[in-house]
Amino acid sequence: MRIGVVGYEHEANARARELRRSDATEHHRLPGGLTHSWIAGPLVERLSRRAEIVELPVFAFPAGGPVNDDDFETIRDEIAAATAAAGPLDALVILGHGAGTTSTGRDADGECFAALRHVAGPSTPLVAVLDLHANISSAMVSNCDALIGYRTNPHVDIHDRLVEAAETALLLAGGTRTHRTWCRLPLMLSQLAQLTTDDEPLGRAIDFAQSLVGPDILNVSVFGGFSLADSPDCGVTVVVTADEHCTTASEVVRDIAAFTWSLRREFRTSTTSVADAVELAAATSPPDAPALLLADVADNPGGGAPANTTYLLSALHERGVRGVQLGLHCDPLLVDRAFELGRGARFDAIFNNGSQDRYADPYAAPARVLALTDEPLQPTRGVYAGASLPTGRCCALELDGLAVAVSSHPVQCADQDTLAHVGLDPTQARVVVVKSRGHFRAGFAELFGNDQIIEVGAPGVSSPDLDSTTWHRLRRPIFPLDPDIDGLDADDVIEIHTTTTGRPTR
Ligand SMILES: [Zn+2]
Repeated sequence: MRIGVVGYEHEANARARELRRSDATEHHRLPGGLTHSWIAGPLVERLSRRAEIVELPVFAFPAGGPVNDDDFETIRDEIAAATAAAGPLDALVILGHGAGTTSTGRDADGECFAALRHVAGPSTPLVAVLDLHANISSAMVSNCDALIGYRTNPHVDIHDRLVEAAETALLLAGGTRTHRTWCRLPLMLSQLAQLTTDDEPLGRAIDFAQSLVGPDILNVSVFGGFSLADSPDCGVTVVVTADEHCTTASEVVRDIAAFTWSLRREFRTSTTSVADAVELAAATSPPDAPALLLADVADNPGGGAPANTTYLLSALHERGVRGVQLGLHCDPLLVDRAFELGRGARFDAIFNNGSQDRYADPYAAPARVLALTDEPLQPTRGVYAGASLPTGRCCALELDGLAVAVSSHPVQCADQDTLAHVGLDPTQARVVVVKSRGHFRAGFAELFGNDQIIEVGAPGVSSPDLDSTTWHRLRRPIFPLDPDIDGLDADDVIEIHTTTTGRPTR
């Protein structure tokens, strides 16, 4: 049996800068190829027990703006050409994220899936693994035989879903045929409302969905979507992949969609103001353990932000809050300066020196260089455990009892290891500030319970505030932007689609 593994992973934030091909990591070109890639390794390992693996191109972009149109077409065509050149395959697994767009707003994932279907032919099963934050398009569903979405946020089930994709590919390669039944609700979630922990509504919807998996149903996925992509495919989407003989898939989709719609007013939209968050931080007293975590959710590089705003940094510094550790602030010029001066040096640090970026105001303060590092960041816990993250050179600076971890490239501070990487010890902090939206909840779980976490509403490219932007490409009406539709019943908003295209039926 020959099974191909191919990939196009991107989560596009319409407010972030356009990405070029050079921004992507080409996992198939890494030393050791896909076997050693953290985004493909578990899939390849499981498949290789029963099949010959054909390693095809896997492009993974960091979260950022839409991909340049010409670069996207080159990549799409390269992926398709390599797949065509691989010869006959018994199945093809697509590693996706599912929230990709291009600079003119095209459905990047749908186009890639269609191109792969075209070269693989109608009878080769295509299995896609997607992020919980995927914006599901008709082209994506109709060109795959199975769609498998993460069920957790923080995404701690990536390994399990990769293994599930391997098992599904083997099953379909053995002759099982599917249909996909799906529904997109006119319901857009703020990035804050996407957690699946602690009885959050999306977690309840996903748990309910999993309770309906039956013998003929291969997979049920509930996608929260990525609203910041500002795409017509934004919105909570339920997808059921079922055996071709299954007759209950529509009912299952309807039940899950109706349940999710009934939760619409429970999805969170609000944050704590910078001023209130700083007062809470100031009110902490030196404890035995860290007291408070402030999440700078709007400057989360995991959502495409540059990780360089100084709203929280300046407010905490000016308020004189001590015992703070903040990271990762991205400022390559400042890192270079710290390396020039050396460890222990005192100087007038200027964050965002000369910046013209919206939201990235310069901020100057006397500082001391605490630590320097040129090592790769390899977290051992949380969502990125096992990954090697491209921070570039990093330093830690001390500003009057406030330690700032500074990187040369934007990387989400999703775990304690990221602060330790630059010589800080978060177990000794009173207050930790992370540029992260939610993944930190897995990587800081040992230090902070839910009641110690504050999501701060500073301005930024990844702001979860749905009113902070002008939307151009959304399908309207959509809740909560268009509150008029709040009164509609589930039957009025649920539209079910079923597709059996792709592989010919027997
Ligand atoms: Zn995600």
